[in-house]
Amino acid sequence: MDAVTGQPTTGGQRGLGEPDGFGRYGVPEQTEDGLVCHECGQAHQHLGLHVARAHGVTAAAYRDAHGLKRSRGLVASAVREKIAQNARQRYSDGGSERLKAVRDPTAATAARQALARPRSAEAAAILAAAATRPRPHTRTGRVVVCQSCGAEFCPLVGAKRRRFCSRSCASRHNRAQARSSTPGPSRVKPGPGALPGGSGSSANGGRCTDTSTAGAHNR
Ligand SMILES: [Zn+2]
Ligand SMILES: [Zn+2]
Repeated sequence: MDAVTGQPTTGGQRGLGEPDGFGRYGVPEQTEDGLVCHECGQAHQHLGLHVARAHGVTAAAYRDAHGLKRSRGLVASAVREKIAQNARQRYSDGGSERLKAVRDPTAATAARQALARPRSAEAAAILAAAATRPRPHTRTGRVVVCQSCGAEFCPLVGAKRRRFCSRSCASRHNRAQARSSTPGPSRVKPGPGALPGGSGSSANGGRCTDTSTAGAHNR
């Protein structure tokens, strides 16, 4: 904390993880006793209250000064869990109706965007980590026509072969192929005594045996 300005000591621009007071810039640190204060090194369950009382800075100013995410709750995880529990309880006790009545998402978004401040170091690091994670549900931009049902779809990036829109279309196609390639007996209608499913008459029990295309579905 700067004794002259009353602002928290920032020391100019820092990079994520660089030494910053009693902690590291952009990194929330928690011990058994609570969150560690970047300003004085003490651990507190309610760090936001502590920095306001002991150092005269708001929680928001503290987060900004130390590169912490603006949505970062300055409470230890046990306290956070308790707060979340209470909120869930209030919500199920009818708070949801009151909230729905008074909330104004458009105004909230406008207020958030009006701040238009650069991302904190912590938030930037979280986003960067998320960007490098593989995303199995991303689709290619190419449109493929399902060979079974004719539906048009964009295949998943991770799919090896892209001929069918779904697992069920792939197996329907496989069943049809197995039927047409199996001679004689499998095409004979089951007799009156046959069980549903025709397990007695079909050479393969009606199931697909063509494992080479079993992985062709678009999952
Ligand atoms: Zn402190
Ligand atoms: Zn299909």
